[in-house]
Amino acid sequence: MAAGAVVGGAGTAGAQVLEHHNGDALSGHAVGADRPLGLSATTIAWRWPTTEPVVALTIDDGPSRAYTSRVLDILEHKDVVATFFQIGRHVRAFPELSRRVAQRHEIGNHTWSHPSMALGRPLPVTRQLRRTAQAIAHATGKVPTLYRPPYGYFSGATAMVAAGLNYSIVLWDVKFDVTDSASSNIARISGQVRPGSIILGHDGGTLNNEVVVQALPGLIDKIRAQGMRFVTVTQLLATATASTGPSHL
Ligand SMILES: [Zn+2]
Repeated sequence: MAAGAVVGGAGTAGAQVLEHHNGDALSGHAVGADRPLGLSATTIAWRWPTTEPVVALTIDDGPSRAYTSRVLDILEHKDVVATFFQIGRHVRAFPELSRRVAQRHEIGNHTWSHPSMALGRPLPVTRQLRRTAQAIAHATGKVPTLYRPPYGYFSGATAMVAAGLNYSIVLWDVKFDVTDSASSNIARISGQVRPGSIILGHDGGTLNNEVVVQALPGLIDKIRAQGMRFVTVTQLLATATASTGPSHL
């Protein structure tokens, strides 16, 4: 599997417009039909093929009263930077938490209401991204440039819209398992991370993320002991890659 990929300009000029079925667009049709003029390429990263010993910790679905401040306290104590993919309506509910996150960390766009984008059509996707970006900018003064589709599902139209709005699409290659113990998470994740890994945890949403808070300090120490340092996703994507560069699909 390609660790990072640059996907070329989507669609074929003059592609046939397909009919919708039961209200759902076929995920691919809009890629050609509604492609913005000038759209060429976007980055989709599961892991970045960096030559540097860096990893990116990403924290999704917040901000929340239950976890965000506790995660921030740990990251501050450990002097670690992370990237928080926040849900727009949670940012609206807790703008002061987003502001605190933005003081040291990066915030990415995780949609307004966390729908699956597996069959995302251009207009609803655009609304989800724009509304969230406005909420983040209103709370923090910063405009997000990273987009993580909920559950990691996204249609071709979703990728097209994200590219048109100049987002990089950020997925992950390693994640916390909240059904497992903190010690098991530390052992498994530290065994799976490689340079360029993007680790997924949560500080909000419907899951019980207590284990993320419990595992984080030990996990940070262990990954550092393996010679790697933590960077934001934007910093990760700016690191040097192997001479062949990312895979081209
Ligand atoms: Zn999520």
